[in-house]
Amino acid sequence: MLKNDQLEEWDRENFFHPSTHLAEFARGNAPQRVIKTASGCRITDRDGSELLDAFAGLYCVNVGYGRQEIAEAIADQARELAYYHAYVGHGTEASITLSKMVLDRAPKGMSKVYYGLGGSDANTTNVKIVWYYNNVLGRPEKKKIISRWRGYHGSGLVNGSLTGLKLFHDKFDLPFDRFLHTEAPYYFRRDDLSQSEEQFTDHCVAELEAMIEREGADTIAAFIGEPVLGTGGIVPPPAGYWEKIQAVLDKHDILLIADEVVTGFGRLGSMFGSDHYGIRPDIITIAKGLTSAYAPLSGSIINDKVWQVLERGTDEFGAFGHGWTYSAHPIGAAAGVANLRLIDELNLVQNAGETGAYLNQALREAVGDHANVGDVRGEGMLCAVEFVEDRDDRRYFDASKTVAASVNAALLRRGVIGRAMPQGDIIGFAPPFCLTRDDVDEIASKLKDSVREVLG
Ligand code: PMP
Repeated sequence: MLKNDQLEEWDRENFFHPSTHLAEFARGNAPQRVIKTASGCRITDRDGSELLDAFAGLYCVNVGYGRQEIAEAIADQARELAYYHAYVGHGTEASITLSKMVLDRAPKGMSKVYYGLGGSDANTTNVKIVWYYNNVLGRPEKKKIISRWRGYHGSGLVNGSLTGLKLFHDKFDLPFDRFLHTEAPYYFRRDDLSQSEEQFTDHCVAELEAMIEREGADTIAAFIGEPVLGTGGIVPPPAGYWEKIQAVLDKHDILLIADEVVTGFGRLGSMFGSDHYGIRPDIITIAKGLTSAYAPLSGSIINDKVWQVLERGTDEFGAFGHGWTYSAHPIGAAAGVANLRLIDELNLVQNAGETGAYLNQALREAVGDHANVGDVRGEGMLCAVEFVEDRDDRRYFDASKTVAASVNAALLRRGVIGRAMPQGDIIGFAPPFCLTRDDVDEIASKLKDSVREVLG
């Protein structure tokens, strides 16, 4: 085994890390950790430190680490058939079985699943499907896509344009034209503090309607949203939000894409966030929880209405001209099949709901009363703590104080991994679904100590 310092040196010299402060990393001032092994909810680095991963990697290792059933399925698939493509009607037992399993679990009315590698490319596929759909229907002007500020849908060009976070736009010349952003359904950060949740929902809906009016409904193809805002701060929707948004979209013949990359396959305690909130999507984006990140795989689940138009399109224009070399990669598909079986066998969706509720309650009790904690919110196995300088007027801390990052670092020193979210003083938690109540108690007490250490 290489000595750690050798590996760290090579790391600094050669590895361009994503979402990293490059200059600080090169100077050796940024966190650098080489992960070696993992089991259940715990990971171990090369120094031998064990950490409770309360963010499941990037909210993706939903069944927990070290699942031998999935590892075996991947190894068997690699031995038997490491690769074959899915173009022009080719499939494998794994990709066909997985498609059946996904559709069996998907909300009512869904018809087919298209595969990619990650959530970003799946959302690119979705935009192409939506544009194609309107071209087939003879509506070439109906192409704009509306997403929300604080939404996260990827960091490529088209999907990065859908994303509503400045860090992913500024200096990259994004968003592209045709991509619009409307109000985030972020009740805690409403301008008018006198508004009830229902009134705030009506405000968000009115903003959307005004945008549609301004742009013209005949120019708007689709609306995309995460059932619960994820990377933008872990924000469950205000009361009645999805029902009212859905009604506006239906009225204007605008397709709804539910980005369930985080919420799909159980994180909210329901198989899909769409079922959880009564959303009737036309397209659903899936990734992370599809394989619990044991292999890269994503998908776009298409409903029957959209599918019928795509079929018609190929009768008119020939084969659907969109595909990746690794669409439905057999190893990813084998991991997906084993992962979905495990979720059923171990009742992990139910555990995500029950232990998730306990997590939310425990974190609220641990830090909710602290003078600098403005909000503790979440749903299922998702929870966020938002820090404020002043609880009464919800004033932000000066960004230079990096409060959430400091609390998160203090938490890490105590052996728990949370995530300082990219915008605002927010720490997020999104643990694997096999989390136990003892794990929750550990997270809660260590978070409390960390908040005290940083904020008094
Ligand atoms: N959509 C959502 C809701 C996500 O959270 C993410 C990733 N965090 C993506 C899309 C992009 O997925 P990927 O990073 O796999 O491209």
